[in-house]
Amino acid sequence: MSDATDVRPVIILGSGPAGYTAALYTARANLSPVLIDGGAGQGQTLQGQGGQLTITGEVENYPGFEDGIQGPELMLRMRKQVARFGVEFVEDLATSVDLSARPFRVTTPDRELQCRVLIVATGASARWLGLEAEKPVWEGGLGGAGISACATCDGALPVFRNREVAVVGGGDTAAEEALYLTHFASKVYVIHRRDALRASKIMQRRLLEHPKVELVWNKVVVDVQDRDAKRVTAAILRDTRTGELSTLPIAGLFIAIGHRPNSDLVAAYVDVDENGYIRTHDDVRTTVRGVFACGDVQDHRYRQAVTAAGSGCMAAIQAERFLAAEDAGENPDW
Ligand code: NAP
Repeated sequence: MSDATDVRPVIILGSGPAGYTAALYTARANLSPVLIDGGAGQGQTLQGQGGQLTITGEVENYPGFEDGIQGPELMLRMRKQVARFGVEFVEDLATSVDLSARPFRVTTPDRELQCRVLIVATGASARWLGLEAEKPVWEGGLGGAGISACATCDGALPVFRNREVAVVGGGDTAAEEALYLTHFASKVYVIHRRDALRASKIMQRRLLEHPKVELVWNKVVVDVQDRDAKRVTAAILRDTRTGELSTLPIAGLFIAIGHRPNSDLVAAYVDVDENGYIRTHDDVRTTVRGVFACGDVQDHRYRQAVTAAGSGCMAAIQAERFLAAEDAGENPDW
């Protein structure tokens, strides 16, 4: 444990594929990185240690695993690989940063750290529809009582077994969640606001061909019942073309409408775009000298585990060269 005045070469925020890869490369470059891993996160709104892949099932498109690998297992293996090279893990959330001057300051609930370079790899979190009904059950909603943003976490619960459930969304996540739910539910509706899916062709085919899946086209969810009974009994749908309302009886609703970048911590210092993604130049450089960003917090285009890992590598290599130039007395370009 270091004292507060100790300035580290590199601190990495986040422990998804981007954060772990940045740690792997900076550790192997003898930069003794500190990786703040997000700890237990913030429940439904922010995944902690291991990031979004810890709430994913089978990952079939990460190279090197010919039979696929479970998301949590992949993240555990990344962590073990990184640990071999002497990374200091801080198993907590960073609660604030000060990037107004170098060394940068990073605060967790019980310590303050300083660093010359910060690598932001805080990823993204599931988005919600914004309905009152999505609030947690203790706030009068049905969140955690039949409404979920993670089928792989909650889909196997007894309340959904042999019942009809629905997934909202038309992307790969919605397709994946719906297919996963077919293992437990008697029927899975996929409610999509348009008449064409955004999901990849292979996922579309699997979804459309599955006997338990029924697509509900051109509909949005405007409410979920029954908040008084504290369980999901139906979704109220609005037709996006006619405005007509209808009721779909279901026992569970899984929201899979994409993600928002976890940039709140640094957004007061670095430029972010209109959706909150950190703007980068030269692949991984933010608008603040010495602050790099990689993975889903800055990538709205690819958002894959393998591209996140790749950009974590880029951030680490750029950080290493930047620090080496400074150590050589140069004033490296930014
Ligand atoms: P996404 O591709 O952005 O899809 C989000 C879906 O939700 C879209 O169909 C969108 O409708 C719908 N949507 C957004 N806001 C909505 C709202 N307020 N009400 C109703 N519907 C709404 O997000 P994603 O599916 O999470 O995927 C993100 C990325 O991860 C993608 O690049 C995807 O390929 C990747 N991914 C890959 C895999 C895999 O390869 N196995 C698995 C999961 C995710 P519109 O289509 O009308 O915009």
